[in-house]
Amino acid sequence: MPEPTWTYAPAPESRDVVTLRSAYGLFVDGAFTDPTDGGSFKTVNPATEEVLAEVAQAGPADVDRAVAAARRAHTEVWGPMPGRERAKYLYRIARILAERAREFAVLETLDNGKPIRESRDVDVPMASAHFFHYAGWADKLEHAGFGAEPRPLGVAGQVIPWNFPLLMAAWKLAPALATGNTCVLKPAETTPLSALLLAEVLQQADLPPGVVNIIPGAGDTGATLVAHPDLDKVAFTGSTEVGKAIQRQLAGTRVRLTLELGGKAANVVFADAPIDQAVEGIVNGIFFNQGHVCCAGSRLLVQESVVDAVLDTLKRRLGTLRLGDPLDKNTDIGAINSAEQLARITALVEAGEGEGAQRWSVACELPEHGYWFPPTLFTDVSQSHRIAREEIFGPVLSVLTFRTPDEAIAKANNTPYGLSAGVWTEKGSRILWMAQRLRAGVVWANTFNRFDPASPFGGYQESGFGREGGRHGLAPYLRSPDLRSPDA
Ligand code: NAD
Repeated sequence: MPEPTWTYAPAPESRDVVTLRSAYGLFVDGAFTDPTDGGSFKTVNPATEEVLAEVAQAGPADVDRAVAAARRAHTEVWGPMPGRERAKYLYRIARILAERAREFAVLETLDNGKPIRESRDVDVPMASAHFFHYAGWADKLEHAGFGAEPRPLGVAGQVIPWNFPLLMAAWKLAPALATGNTCVLKPAETTPLSALLLAEVLQQADLPPGVVNIIPGAGDTGATLVAHPDLDKVAFTGSTEVGKAIQRQLAGTRVRLTLELGGKAANVVFADAPIDQAVEGIVNGIFFNQGHVCCAGSRLLVQESVVDAVLDTLKRRLGTLRLGDPLDKNTDIGAINSAEQLARITALVEAGEGEGAQRWSVACELPEHGYWFPPTLFTDVSQSHRIAREEIFGPVLSVLTFRTPDEAIAKANNTPYGLSAGVWTEKGSRILWMAQRLRAGVVWANTFNRFDPASPFGGYQESGFGREGGRHGLAPYLRSPDLRSPDA
């Protein structure tokens, strides 16, 4: 029977809810300021290439100012403040984020290119939920298993990527603030706007000046921040290459470090899995957020006896995905975040073709302007291919097969990364057997890409170390009880 062809009327979300300023300053010591020795850069809508705003870029003197403001705020206000008082600010931020959710969702979609469906239903509610979750911890730290009197580290320098700009800011700020630290946050250069809108929320919540400072800029601003001598803690999310450089730089210093880096997750489908459900999980695993997800299920491992059935269903399902205007509520696949990222994806896909894997892409029209890549999968992939080893960070799936559970484990673990993995089977015992053997920080069973503020997230090996989320997410921001000096 022929597939029905659906037509959808356009359903764009209105941009009117967002007031874009033509220029944005740095957020230092509670106020928006011009850079002292930085410059500025343009941020564009990747779906249209329209310039959205001119954004201030922090130079070394600005980084210095921001760290000094954070230090002052930590010593004078935030550090001594009782947890129950800090909690009130966090609850307030969480509530304002929820109240202004639509505005944040539209702004995030404009600056990042992700579908409004995702920024509205995932990024913004999860960011608010993170503040709520950590607000709940702020007055209970002494009961959390970190000693009788858990103490903050001091000032945290935090660098985040562009794939979940607001959510990553929330993942960094909420646990740091709940534990009594102050922060200097550097958003990614292609997506600074939602962090700057968050700065307005912090003002609205009357957060004391200097507790959070937000300094946009590119890699040099990040490098200056993480090298600043007056930091107690560095938290970085981004590429493994930059993460390794930061780790080398901070080795031997007293600065505490956590790294959340790349991944090349295996999504393992056994023959007994419900195929339709597994296919939804595969789609969500790699095509959510255009595959710009560190824990994306980018390597599909299918048991050989069902590979044809899975691929048929998967291709049919991919044919129904709608690529286009990210502000349209029916859009499933938005824009690639930047020209640079599109070039990386294109180069790796060409490498896959060059190495002999079979490419299949959804036949869809790509918009004339902006940065786009159609949902793509590769079959005939061998483990040595670059597309099976390197993080593509785009809507590209590499399909491999296995015959036995042991072979599935061997292939899944054959990666320098170890952030996440997925298992699809109807047998609970097999899920547990697999979870014990998969070397990954998060293992999803019969689902994928599920997040909850109460659940810790983080990696092994070259995916980094340290956990964000839940009670585990408090530890990287607290002094270890045994390291505390007697007068601390
Ligand atoms: P990146 O590591 O270059 O950038 C991430 C953040 O670090 C940005 O804010 C950037 O300005 C900053 N930065 C860059 N160089 C720095 C330095 N030397 N010191 C301190 N901060 C620095 O990542 P990218 O170029 O945006 O993306 C490259 C690759 O990284 C992607 O293709 C993907 O593989 C990976 N990535 C992973 C995640 C993740 O969540 N794990 C997120 C984004 C990108």
